[in-house]
Amino acid sequence: MHVSHMAKKGFWIGKLVGLGALVLTTLASCTTAPETGRSQFILISEAQGLQLGADAYRQIKSQKKISRDRRYTEPVVRVGSRIAAISPRPNYKWEFTVFEDETPNAFALPGGKVGVHTGLFKVAKNDAQLATVLAHEVAHAIARHGEERMSSQMAVGVGVGVAGAATGINPNVLAQAATLGVVLPFSRTQESEADAIGLRYMARAGFDPRQSIPLWQNFAKYGGDRPPEFLSTHPSPGSRIQNLQRLMPQALEEYNKSPYRNR
Ligand SMILES: [Zn+2]
Repeated sequence: MHVSHMAKKGFWIGKLVGLGALVLTTLASCTTAPETGRSQFILISEAQGLQLGADAYRQIKSQKKISRDRRYTEPVVRVGSRIAAISPRPNYKWEFTVFEDETPNAFALPGGKVGVHTGLFKVAKNDAQLATVLAHEVAHAIARHGEERMSSQMAVGVGVGVAGAATGINPNVLAQAATLGVVLPFSRTQESEADAIGLRYMARAGFDPRQSIPLWQNFAKYGGDRPPEFLSTHPSPGSRIQNLQRLMPQALEEYNKSPYRNR
């Protein structure tokens, strides 16, 4: 009787702990993406994301050759900073670094760390086209797509990650998820979302959103038979342009009232 009572008590304690973990997990995942309002599953706090992004960025900067060519660094920093300033997180420690790499590509890490390849200038022919790519990357960072991606990895890695979320995440699991998070491509949903958010951000920062269409067309042209890496993980050029055209009237409205136009 006594033993079974204890067992029963244990069972209920287990239930309660389980419930607590569930509540915590729900809190942790109760996040919505900016502009689109899509609900997201994110187990990593904003502070943890900032730390992971900064660490990964430092590592990439120590491994890849950084360009000091002002023809590239000047527009990337100027255009990137203008977009970061109108974003909902102007106080992130934004960094825009140009890497010597001929592939037309760019990337974003959590917390506002952006990288641009010199090869991007083969397809981005003016400030507004460069702004298209930078706003897309800023959108990935603001919408916390990296943390979202890591969270799915953690959920797989630690069996839904409930224990991890409740007790503070095991640093090893986190490190592993972070590595995978940097390596793995974003999902199609995240890419389309970054396009949609990025289009608004570039317009708000005073860059003509209509330039996003020739930019993605240039990307498609450059691709030939083997599309560049940036395109291969992104929506097909056709559906991407259709999507942008659908969002264009609203973006143009934002562009027309932007105080930063023609700067
Ligand atoms: Zn992207």
